[in-house]
Amino acid sequence: MIEELIRRIAAEDDDAIEELCEIADADPRRLAPYQGLLLDLDVLWPAKLYRAADADVVRRVIDQIDHGRTPDRLNHLLLVLAHTAHPLAESAMRRWSTQPPAGADRLHVGALSYALEGGWTLDPTGNRRDLCGDTAYRLVMRETPRRADRPTCPWCASPLWVAVDLDTTEPAVGAALAHTRWSGRLVIETCHFCACYTTLYSRVTPAGDATWWAGNTRPSYLPDAAEPEDPPTQIPVLGPALPSPHLCSAWNRGGSALGGRPDWIQDAEHADCPGCGQPMDYVGLLGGADLDDFGEGAYYLHLHQPCGFAAVNYQQS
Ligand SMILES: [Zn+2]
Ligand SMILES: [Zn+2]
Repeated sequence: MIEELIRRIAAEDDDAIEELCEIADADPRRLAPYQGLLLDLDVLWPAKLYRAADADVVRRVIDQIDHGRTPDRLNHLLLVLAHTAHPLAESAMRRWSTQPPAGADRLHVGALSYALEGGWTLDPTGNRRDLCGDTAYRLVMRETPRRADRPTCPWCASPLWVAVDLDTTEPAVGAALAHTRWSGRLVIETCHFCACYTTLYSRVTPAGDATWWAGNTRPSYLPDAAEPEDPPTQIPVLGPALPSPHLCSAWNRGGSALGGRPDWIQDAEHADCPGCGQPMDYVGLLGGADLDDFGEGAYYLHLHQPCGFAAVNYQQS
């Protein structure tokens, strides 16, 4: 069945792409025996089909880049390597960061920056750091009474929105946030309106304090809100564990999740920490479809525990 899907993808059948992506999200290892065929047929997109690729497949991709046979496909090949997150991919990308491969002059970013698409990076000492965890829980929205005394956004005067209020003393929360090393209560508060235009940062403490970061810079393109807007009235609570870290959805109702891997609508956008400049750890996703009947897009939550910063950004199609 998978082989047939792959052959249909090679013939540009969009339904087959969707079906294969569903398999890649639910159980990436099921595709491992077929990734050689994907390469043979030159199916490089979507790159997430290459999650769980083995050393042979990764070596073939690296060879293809090193031999410069398809410099016009370098972007796709680097995305594939990023999604494999394989140690061989990591060392090749390090090498290309100082010795760029053929076609690199046409890329918008350096080879190593592609790692972010796969949810990892190299820290300043050159060690690999995974920005996401492998444990994910569905987030289910609960209506909460609106509180009258909420602090307001300094830019648009909307009441600030408590995007999550969680505590790692709940074992499932602790598991979903283990990669962030956060311990304690985590409240991420943001402006649901302004976060749609720029990454908004807040200072957070394990006591559950959340404070708008004074260094947030109002973008010149932020529209003037005619009236302050009320934020969503729901607060997410933990639902069932997801069988795979890739099963959140930025599109579908019920797609919001804590932990696991983000479902980016656009390119990966792991926020950089204002404290240290490094990419922050990914915390979870709140889908517009879960927050509002007509909602679209998704809010992405980030955290950098060593610096005590949280961030929220937003993507839409
Ligand atoms: Zn605002
Ligand atoms: Zn930091």
